[in-house]
Amino acid sequence: MQRTLVLLKPDCVERRLIGRIIGRFEDKGLNIVAMKLIRITPDLAKQHYAEHVSKPFYPGLEAFITAAPVVAMVLEGLEAIQVVRDMLGATSGLKAAAGTIRGDFSSSRQMNLVHASDGPDAASREIDLYFQAEEVLDYAPVLTPWMR
Ligand code: ADP
Ligand code: MG
Repeated sequence: MQRTLVLLKPDCVERRLIGRIIGRFEDKGLNIVAMKLIRITPDLAKQHYAEHVSKPFYPGLEAFITAAPVVAMVLEGLEAIQVVRDMLGATSGLKAAAGTIRGDFSSSRQMNLVHASDGPDAASREIDLYFQAEEVLDYAPVLTPWMR
């Protein structure tokens, strides 16, 4: 089992797509083990996007990610990190394949609806950035045959 950090970004919240996007993760069989609605501060944005802070698109990205609340959640499942990245599709909504979340709902490079950790180190760092250990709930995931 793996855990991954997912953010439903401000465009997702403002477009009232929270339910439909969470529904896709539930349909896939992923287990929600932590979830909250928060407003990202500029300081948290710089920590979250540390690898991008010096890039030309960062000021716009920070303005976007702090402009409205986000839903932060931890999803758990078999190979959850890659499974969720694959469900998101390519970074740009224009390039993302049809059938992926970004491909189906976004036409933007920046406003691409969802963030997900891109590997085990990022997942561990990002889960710690958004959640206290006791906010991530350990409950028996139902591993039915259709999830194996
Ligand atoms: P991903 O979210 O797919 O891992 P990156 O880590 O490359 O993508 O970028 C982080 C976020 O920064 C993207 O999801 C997107 O919101 C934004 N972003 C990336 N590249 C650009 C760009 N060239 N112009 C504007 N925003 C961008
Ligand atoms: Mg990334």
